[in-house]
Amino acid sequence: MTRVESLEAPLVVGAGVAGLSVALGLERAVVITSKEMGSTWWAQGGIAAAVSADDSPGAHAADTVAVAGGLAVEDAVAALTGGGPEAIARLIEMGAQFDRDDDGALVLSREGGHHARRVVHADGDATGAEVMRALNAAVDTADTVEMLEGRVVDLARHDDRVVGVVTADGKKRVVYTAPAVIMATGGAGRMYSHTTNPSGVTGEGIMMAGRAGARLADLEFVQFHPTALNAGKDPMPLLTEALRGEGAKLVDAAGRRFMDRYHPMAELAPRDIVARAIFWQYDRGSSAYLDGRSIVNFHERFPTVTAHALSVGLDPSEDLLPVSPAAHYYMGGIDADPSGRTSVPGLWAVGECSSTGVHGANRLASNSLLEGLVFGAKVAHDVDSTPRPAPIGPVEVPGDSLDLPVLSGPVIEDLRQVMWDRVGLIRTGSGLWEARNSLVDMEPILGRTIAGRNAVNLGLLMTMAALRRSESRGGHYRADYPEEDPKQAMRALVVPGATPAERVR
Ligand SMILES: Cc1cc2nc3c(=O)[nH]c(=O)nc-3n(C[C@H](O)[C@H](O)[C@H](O)COP(=O)(O)OP(=O)(O)OC[C@H]3O[C@@H](n4cnc5c(N)ncnc54)[C@H](O)[C@@H]3O)c2cc1C
Repeated sequence: MTRVESLEAPLVVGAGVAGLSVALGLERAVVITSKEMGSTWWAQGGIAAAVSADDSPGAHAADTVAVAGGLAVEDAVAALTGGGPEAIARLIEMGAQFDRDDDGALVLSREGGHHARRVVHADGDATGAEVMRALNAAVDTADTVEMLEGRVVDLARHDDRVVGVVTADGKKRVVYTAPAVIMATGGAGRMYSHTTNPSGVTGEGIMMAGRAGARLADLEFVQFHPTALNAGKDPMPLLTEALRGEGAKLVDAAGRRFMDRYHPMAELAPRDIVARAIFWQYDRGSSAYLDGRSIVNFHERFPTVTAHALSVGLDPSEDLLPVSPAAHYYMGGIDADPSGRTSVPGLWAVGECSSTGVHGANRLASNSLLEGLVFGAKVAHDVDSTPRPAPIGPVEVPGDSLDLPVLSGPVIEDLRQVMWDRVGLIRTGSGLWEARNSLVDMEPILGRTIAGRNAVNLGLLMTMAALRRSESRGGHYRADYPEEDPKQAMRALVVPGATPAERVR
């Protein structure tokens, strides 16, 4: 028997920067989130925003578009960068403590692809934790937001409308109906064996929307961060881009720099170019290290990186740090506009699970916390100004989400390895077909649980999207088609089709 509970307020799924920003902007909200913390807590480098006198939202927009491989949706970019200064001011008002100089001015870093110092940060490299501390404190004092804990496993529908979610606790299922559902479930980095993303960031929200018939976009575009600490940990600790902004160099084992061979901006080239350069170092039998020894007061300025390095016996002020690329950010996701509207009535999406085209084929560093803050506020406004639907009739949910166990077994690790080997940084047509066939072989076992089913289906969608794009662009690199093809300069949209649903018993 499945319990059905009716909520009067809009329901936000996920409590990272995007979900909490929506919740705080709504007149009333219920937030439901699983125990996993999501990526925001881990964000290091900061939030990009044109807050200095010699910068402007227009210059920030130009940098965002320049790295986006020709696919940035320019209206969305203008909305993002235009909302930056206000979003920072709002966070400061909530109590966020950003790093400041002796005169009290915000200290701004520069990161790859940015032509100005515009990255606001906290505690050196612990920006995400400070953002979450401030947002959670605001939620605690707001009497408009109710927090619930629960693992959402699917969306509930009535006709072609999303009318709620299904949560699972062991075998128990609860259906929550709500006047609007806002997905803010984060990215999909855990689809890869090499990732900076913490557990739980598996793309589940994207697949739930797809199962409800929502249009998905840009599924082939994964951003691989160039510098994760290559010391056998999962997730791989991130060595923030700000290190290179502050002068850290990429070198081989002999201490020779190599990035100037690949791009005029050398270590500050766009992420995809730096990531592939490091990959090719290994491919040629060489290696790659980050040399941050010239950074003054390293330990004080980068305490998170220092702690990660010391935990594997390396001192970043004295040692070279071995680096590898790792899956880091997903440009693909639920097709949405900056107000979060998706192709399905009743369903909004925001943050890393959404794909608004604001990052095009490649995200500019430190634009995603900003996206959660700026678009989160827009979504709240849109949801509150959308007329509430009439009371709904019977609720329908795909039967397998009511019956299957939630968690998957060890085969998921095989899937993550296949995705890294064949759908990773360097792709080829034959490798992608191999990946597709391996995933199809895994499907009978993975399909026995909700997590496995979602992972294998998302893996297949990502693989087929990568196969269809026979060119290289942004985060998607095909060794068999290494050039951009102007004829393919468009976003790719997919409608997986709603999974048949049955009336909740
Ligand atoms: C190591 C690291 C460093 C980064 N550094 C930066 C940076 O410096 N600047 C920057 O702009 N970006 C950075 N990023 C990217 C940025 O952190 C993310 O893009 C952003 O935080 C995503 O926010 P979100 O709210 O969309 O998702 P998340 O913060 O991932 O939150 C997702 C939420 O959804 C919940 N959830 C997920 N699935 C379910 C489910 N099935 N049921 C219920 N709840 C669910 C989770 O519990 C979580 O609360 C970094 C990412 C990583 C991993």
